Amino acid sequence: MGSSECHIAVLAFPFTTHAAPLLSLVEQLSAALPSARFSFFNNHDSNSTLFGGRNPAAGKVKAYDVWDGTVAGEALVTHEEFIMAMPGNYQTAIAERGGVPWISFWTAGACSISAHLYTDFVRSLVAATPNANGNGLDQKLKVIPGMSEVSIGEMPGEILAKDLQAPFPGMIYNMALKLPGANALVLNSFQKLEPTVTDDLRSKVQVFNIGPMILQPATPKPPISDDHNCIPWLDSLPPASSAVYLSFGSGITPPPDEIVGLAKALEAKRAPFLWSLKPHGVKHLPEGFVERTKEFGKIVPWAPQVQVLSHPGVGVFVTHCGWNSTLEAISCGVCMICRPFYGDQKINTRFVESVWEIGVKIEGRIFTKDGTMKALNVVLDSDRGKLLKENVVKLKGEALEAVKPNGSSTKDFQELVHLLNDSF
Ligand code: UDP
Repeated sequence: MGSSECHIAVLAFPFTTHAAPLLSLVEQLSAALPSARFSFFNNHDSNSTLFGGRNPAAGKVKAYDVWDGTVAGEALVTHEEFIMAMPGNYQTAIAERGGVPWISFWTAGACSISAHLYTDFVRSLVAATPNANGNGLDQKLKVIPGMSEVSIGEMPGEILAKDLQAPFPGMIYNMALKLPGANALVLNSFQKLEPTVTDDLRSKVQVFNIGPMILQPATPKPPISDDHNCIPWLDSLPPASSAVYLSFGSGITPPPDEIVGLAKALEAKRAPFLWSLKPHGVKHLPEGFVERTKEFGKIVPWAPQVQVLSHPGVGVFVTHCGWNSTLEAISCGVCMICRPFYGDQKINTRFVESVWEIGVKIEGRIFTKDGTMKALNVVLDSDRGKLLKENVVKLKGEALEAVKPNGSSTKDFQELVHLLNDSF
């Protein structure tokens, strides 16, 4: 190693589940790079949640609050307001810019970042489609390596945005344009999960695939809290239960009519269920639902998801298909029923259903009683469901291999550490 102390600036995107895996990566790097010190720039709210009195890596990781555009006493900023305020604030916070090596951590999968790198190509296909009514969106992207199952309409929404210069699509588009200039791209994925897409990415930028981070023994994990007794409840289920676990990540609550559709299906199916649903979603449940299902159902505002998915009593995960949730389902060997909302969720869903064949997409795009019943029956009670389960268990095995001492993700992490050492 060169100098006695190296300083690494870390710039977080503070919305949904982006900053937490970034901090886990930083803590893991800090253990591998004893003389490095990290400054973690993030907005105040996200920093308070993540650091909350903790002192990660014995003070070698320091949190700095950067103003995100929120005005005191007013609601939190939107993505757009944040994007307008933060670049300047980040530059001010970091002071020097030119010539500093930079590494990007994309907290989702190779499939979605690769999609963004093909933005211009995908937009040119849409522009060349004679039918302007959107039928062209069904076209499969056969010429993009690894994307032959994915249709244009399943690309992350920002790629298809009407105005590519609007703040959020513009930020992602500019990120994709700049990415090949990065010293490296780090992904919370593993080589055997998305081999073709990843190899294609590797032809554009150096990629380190270090996931699944929840299985990496060296990755610090946030403390587990089970304030609502989800695990004892799962323990109390009859042996060989196949409980339905429902959760839509940190930010999404399905619209009221979909909450009703889900509830009706759960009541009709009578399978045990554990539903992570915020209070503003609970109020849309059908009248008397909680009382009528209390023998076999439990609703909580937050569940220790990884521990829930690891529980042998859980048979299926109803999810928005956020990347962390997808990887957690794979790591725990649980099949999925996917109802994607935005961002990378549609492309993740396509990979779940058609590439890995470890789950199904909800029929008709949104939750209805019939569509949900059908999906539950496929996953829990059909030959197709057995095949999906075999596939997800196989993939879980590959994930466990990747994080072994000689596994592909462990090797990639070590190479990332070498790259950082060489940059000092
Ligand atoms: N999560 C959890 N308990 C819940 C709901 C979500 O622990 O009740 C965690 C979940 O384990 C995952 C994260 O929140 O790590 C959600 O991340 P994901 O990328 O799936 O979705 P996002 O929040 O970014 O939309």
